[in-house]
Amino acid sequence: MSFDLKKIARNHLHELTPYSTARDDYQGVASSYLDANENPFNTGYNRYPDPSQQALKNLIAKIKVVDPENIILGNGSDEIVDWLMRAFCNPGDNIVVPQPTYGMYTVSAAINNVVVKAPPLNKSFDLDLNLITDNIDRNTKLIFICSPNNPTGNLLSEAGIISLLQSFNGLVVLDEAYIDFSETDGFLGMLKCYPNLFILQTFSKAWGLAGLRLGSGFASREIIDLLKKIKPPYNISTMTQEFAIQALSNENQKTIWVRTIVEERIKLEAALKQLKMVKKVHPSDSNFLLVELSDAQACYRYLLDKGIIVRDRSTMANCSNCLRVTVGAPSENSLLTNALKGYEKSLVY
Ligand SMILES: *Cc1c(COP(=O)(O)O)cnc(C)c1O
Repeated sequence: MSFDLKKIARNHLHELTPYSTARDDYQGVASSYLDANENPFNTGYNRYPDPSQQALKNLIAKIKVVDPENIILGNGSDEIVDWLMRAFCNPGDNIVVPQPTYGMYTVSAAINNVVVKAPPLNKSFDLDLNLITDNIDRNTKLIFICSPNNPTGNLLSEAGIISLLQSFNGLVVLDEAYIDFSETDGFLGMLKCYPNLFILQTFSKAWGLAGLRLGSGFASREIIDLLKKIKPPYNISTMTQEFAIQALSNENQKTIWVRTIVEERIKLEAALKQLKMVKKVHPSDSNFLLVELSDAQACYRYLLDKGIIVRDRSTMANCSNCLRVTVGAPSENSLLTNALKGYEKSLVY
């Protein structure tokens, strides 16, 4: 493997002059801010937010045990996925996205006129390295790996991911949106070993901040600096930065939520397995279960009718008759289990 960021990034970005603000030239507190055409009267939000989000990044760096220089923050991790397309893929280039997985990589690629190669994961929903390698050509810029994977729930093999990192000349984008629910630490500790590793995490799941829109990308300083060139300067609002600093200061709360959700997942899995119409509950390292049923669509509609919304994933690769169920609060999980028991009674076997 010979990863060369200069070769892999789009040419015009090397020359690009990013938007700059006068506040890049001045650290500390000034006596007058007459540079940004803001309203001087204090509303709490009359000033533009810190474009470098330094205080928030310092806190995230401490929690994740990385350097702030290795972090970029997006308005949700979905925003970072789009920057990766724009930074690395010329129209006509391609990315490899093993299926089934999170749909945003493909949508973002389509928006950017990037070709998606979609080899299937293997029967256990793990990486099939031969199939992935067969799909790589000289225009392949990114491989998207989601671990734990959505919608299947499982962690992918660490050895498989490392093998890709070692052999692929482009960027391996590893989406760890659900890593807090798994029993592994994920790949953040390996950033220094692999210059072509890009890790996505989000505050939308374990941290309970989906409405805030905050996601983070972790990579080498060189890759982060490249993405900073395309990042809108004020993409994370003052309110988001302040609220996130407050929320992230209470990591203990997140730990408690994660523990409760994992306990509930184990209970829900056991309850689902009692049902005859449940053919399989796929093993999960996340906060949801992929459940194979005898008739997923009918069951989906029945639940919808009861006001219980789950996700029908039955049209995805190797997911026929599968529903994806998020592990909810204990009361919600009981409602679901009871509704399914009622549904099963109404069926004739
Ligand atoms: C939910 C989810 C995200 C989160 O996206 P945000 O834009 O940060 O809310 C990212 N990746 C995967 C695989 C997800 O399931």
